[in-house]
Amino acid sequence: MKVLVINCGSSSLKYQLIDAESEQALAVGLCERIGIDGRLNHTPAGGTKVVLEDPLPNHEVAIKGVLAALTDPSYGVISSLSEIGAVGHRVVHGGEKFASSVLITPEVIAAIEECSELAPLHNPANLIGIHACLSIMPGVPEVAVFDTAFHQTMPKEAYLYGLPYEYYEKYKVRRYGFHGTSHSYVSKHAMQLGGLDPENSKIVVCHLGNGASVSAVKNGKSVDTSMGLTPLEGLIMGTRSGDIDPAIMEFVAEKENLSLADVMNVLNKKSGVYGMSGVSSDFRDLDAAAEAGNPRAKDAVATFCYRVAKYVGAYAAAMNGIDAIAFTAGLGENDKKVRKLICEHFGYLGVELDEEKNAVRGREIIISTPESRVKVMVIPTNEELAIARETVALTKA
Ligand code: AMP
Repeated sequence: MKVLVINCGSSSLKYQLIDAESEQALAVGLCERIGIDGRLNHTPAGGTKVVLEDPLPNHEVAIKGVLAALTDPSYGVISSLSEIGAVGHRVVHGGEKFASSVLITPEVIAAIEECSELAPLHNPANLIGIHACLSIMPGVPEVAVFDTAFHQTMPKEAYLYGLPYEYYEKYKVRRYGFHGTSHSYVSKHAMQLGGLDPENSKIVVCHLGNGASVSAVKNGKSVDTSMGLTPLEGLIMGTRSGDIDPAIMEFVAEKENLSLADVMNVLNKKSGVYGMSGVSSDFRDLDAAAEAGNPRAKDAVATFCYRVAKYVGAYAAAMNGIDAIAFTAGLGENDKKVRKLICEHFGYLGVELDEEKNAVRGREIIISTPESRVKVMVIPTNEELAIARETVALTKA
């Protein structure tokens, strides 16, 4: 079966067509500037990228463009749309309603709509993609895979905030966590790579990309994670602050004469290593600046690594030990210096890094020495493949 995986943003749409048997991507692409002018980037596996500049006034036109690209005689990868057996959609917020992926029905769409107030920028965009596929490909089964679902196994003590309980009862204010598809995929692969017992294992997954989160996965289930009601909580990220004293918001608003919305914008878009360094949100730029002697870039990287290490320590306490630490996402997979700086905090866990193995990129590998008490790994994430696997599992049933 071939599965079309769709990840819809407010003005963009990422896609992959995945062959479920070989688990290979047959084509990948991105529609940008939807509703503005439009650009479709399409790359067939092993082929060269094609850029189409046709107008994309809305998501339905964008999806029609994707389907036309997939079936194009020169750069397409299938001869007819009937080859697409199912569509898998990434949906950001499933609230408490969804603890696993589901086949999309009118009731599921209504429930995703209800979760929109928890993710007002993302869920409506995800729904636009779902509606567009339903209207263009009627009869093709569609599956929703939620970023929050994997973390629904967290116990109450991990997901409740120290706030008046009525906010949880009335508005469902609690920790949800995100990047769940990645944390689930990486923890499963870490178990296999490390030869760990799925029923008796303690893994910390460090998903370190532009958005970043850590999760504690005990016996295959998420028991805690660093992101909260929204993706703003937890680690210092590319442009997000992560954890701060909430009183800073009022203090800064008064000093800088900012509204609450302005402060939220600062915390989401102008903070993190970008705001700290004044250089960039990209660690390649930060590493270069730090090496050239920029003290703020050096502090930003060190503070980022210290925060990751603190969360790993907290999760060692939450799980009463750790068998493996798995690094993933853009930074976790590629930045050996950041992995080393983080692991330098783990002497008490008996972690010993193998410098040569730590330099390897692009594949699953154990980067600790055989003597290391905790196995440290790099596991490249593949959220699209995880969505395709979920889609196949639900549509075959
Ligand atoms: P993601 O959000 O998972 O795509 O990760 C993007 C981030 O990964 C970038 O902003 C960089 O900070 C980081 N990154 C990607 N490639 C490298 C690299 N080769 N070395 C260091 N950092 C990298």
